[in-house]
Amino acid sequence: MTACSQRDLDSSHDPGLLSWVDSANRPDADFPLQNLPFGRYIGAAGEAARAGVAIGDQVLDLSRAAPLLAQHADALLQAALRPLQAGDLQGFMALGRASWRAVRLALSQALRSDSRQREDLARCLVAQSAVRMQLPCRIGDYTDFYSGIHHATAVGRLLRPDQPLMPNYKWLPVGYHGRASSIVASGQAVRRPLGQLRAGAEQPPRLAASRRLDFELELGAYIGPGNPQGEAVDIEHAHAHLFGVCLLNDWSARDVQAWEYQPLGPFLAKSFATSVSPWIVTLDALEPFRTALVRPSGDAPSLPYLSSRHNSACGAYDLQLEVWLHGEEARRQGRPAVLLARSNWARAAYWTLAQLVAHHTCGGCNLQTGDLLGTGTLSGEQPEQAGSLLELSQGGRSPVEVGPGEQRSFLLDGDTVILRAWAQAEGARRIGLGECSGTVLPAAGGEVAA
Ligand code: CA
Repeated sequence: MTACSQRDLDSSHDPGLLSWVDSANRPDADFPLQNLPFGRYIGAAGEAARAGVAIGDQVLDLSRAAPLLAQHADALLQAALRPLQAGDLQGFMALGRASWRAVRLALSQALRSDSRQREDLARCLVAQSAVRMQLPCRIGDYTDFYSGIHHATAVGRLLRPDQPLMPNYKWLPVGYHGRASSIVASGQAVRRPLGQLRAGAEQPPRLAASRRLDFELELGAYIGPGNPQGEAVDIEHAHAHLFGVCLLNDWSARDVQAWEYQPLGPFLAKSFATSVSPWIVTLDALEPFRTALVRPSGDAPSLPYLSSRHNSACGAYDLQLEVWLHGEEARRQGRPAVLLARSNWARAAYWTLAQLVAHHTCGGCNLQTGDLLGTGTLSGEQPEQAGSLLELSQGGRSPVEVGPGEQRSFLLDGDTVILRAWAQAEGARRIGLGECSGTVLPAAGGEVAA
């Protein structure tokens, strides 16, 4: 990775910091003191959702911790803690980076091993295993991009061997308007969709359960402060509008998609469900992992509204991605999940988050707090690094080995798909995004897909 010399770090990124929460200090912990991701959860049945911060294998309950952190706090920090105390993560996301940083620093100081607030805050901890995670906010709009160039090339090659990438691909971040209502938090099962299918090009379609159900390994980014309608976000200021990232599985019914997508793009093949990991890892936490945007030599520079020196030097993030499969049969036999593919965000994406925001708003579209932007499938360059079964099985022609005598071209009922991501770099503490998992339920009507 090319070095990025413009990282904006503070004491909260110090890799030597340890927490008085022991589980946060394990070398492989996703949520060490340097991460501090935000989420919403329900602790006990009938209770309203609360905002929390993940630390090790615990959640710091902000409804109880915020008043303690507000003691001796300045006005900015007090105002930033108020929505968190009320369980209103969305209200906090709307405040902007100065407020996010003030809370991050306060949390970092309160949770580090020499904290004087240790005793009081220890009473605000609850085990992650004891809570039910919710969506972090009300997602008003969801846009899914197509920024993974190796995915776009591989899928394009299946459809158009002569011209895998469409002529627009390297000029603009291609995207479509997704469905926000069917986004679910990790852990929620996903029902195999029905849709129009054709047995062959000459056959009339029929309504049936999808037989080519797939996952897509993606990241999502949440919008913090929005922009007024009619006012584009300059690429230099795009990061001020981005709160943080999560894992995102864009479940896809390939057979439904193949028939319905022309000429307006994906519709019901995508809109039945999208799973997200529940913890939002802030861009502040990811700051040590910023890296250069790498483009193939010879590519034309982006148009000025999609270009900045900072975006080229530091616009990408060095984040490792994995997708795992745990089938029903494997679970029954006590076999572990199998790794299907591994890739890296910075190497997979042609467009940065800042470019997605600048392009989304260039015509005047207003983004709003809590909107979710999907990156698109982040496949690696090699075929075995693909972030979808469509690519891994080459359109179903080459099934993938997933255990002794077991193969997959597409997902079976009972399959659990697990996405993971983490970042590590010299001079920084490793942090992770947690996981995004979902299990496929049989289609309505009980038809079992072969
Ligand atoms: Ca997608």
